[in-house]
Amino acid sequence: MTIKSAADFAAMRRAGRVVANIHEALREAAKPGVSLLELDAIAARITRDGKATSNFLNYQGFPAHTCLSVNEQIVHGIPSARRLEEGDIIGIDAGAIYEGWHADAAITVAIGAVPAHVANLISATEKALWAGVAKSTVGTRLGDLGHAVGAVAERHGFGIVREYTGHGIGREMHEEPQVLNYGRPGTGMKLRRGMAICIEPMFNLGGDATRVLEDGWTVVTADGSLSAHFEHTVAITPDGPQVLTE
Ligand code: MG
Repeated sequence: MTIKSAADFAAMRRAGRVVANIHEALREAAKPGVSLLELDAIAARITRDGKATSNFLNYQGFPAHTCLSVNEQIVHGIPSARRLEEGDIIGIDAGAIYEGWHADAAITVAIGAVPAHVANLISATEKALWAGVAKSTVGTRLGDLGHAVGAVAERHGFGIVREYTGHGIGREMHEEPQVLNYGRPGTGMKLRRGMAICIEPMFNLGGDATRVLEDGWTVVTADGSLSAHFEHTVAITPDGPQVLTE
């Protein structure tokens, strides 16, 4: 776990701006008929234009600037020639490095019209992210933050992915502490001024269980149900949570 200064957070916000730009562009571009490789190419261009580099590309051999996870894919989907279809949902996870500082965020987008229960999965997962952001204050225990995130899934009866979690972030994409999407109130480490964390709920229409495809990366729901993912990089400051990837 590392403690950042206001100047460090400012640099992280520059990285976060690039990530926000990627999301804005890909949300617009993600339409029926577009391929995942085409979306990734847009992310690569925006990263370059932002004078940033990608923390996803070559991460443990990962071959792309984004993780694009369609339908029952939860996270870590590899951009391919697959084309989006009406009714798909896609998780768009992207990151950037600016002057050595990392940012990381994710959104889930519906392609055209989706049934109400699917739209509800997406909106509840985003709502859970913001419940976690609201708890990202000095002195909050991580168990309280995780509880606030997980409670949203429990209210809707959604599965909560437990094998993959949020994390600290800074000079590295993944730092201590682990930021779980569930928790017991009153337990866990207290957040301190100068910490930066990634909160990233992953909720499933079905159960909690996951498995990894033979490509070694793509995580899917074990029961094949749809999954949604949202993430922001958040700075812990005396003035309250500062979202660095908006
Ligand atoms: Mg992350």
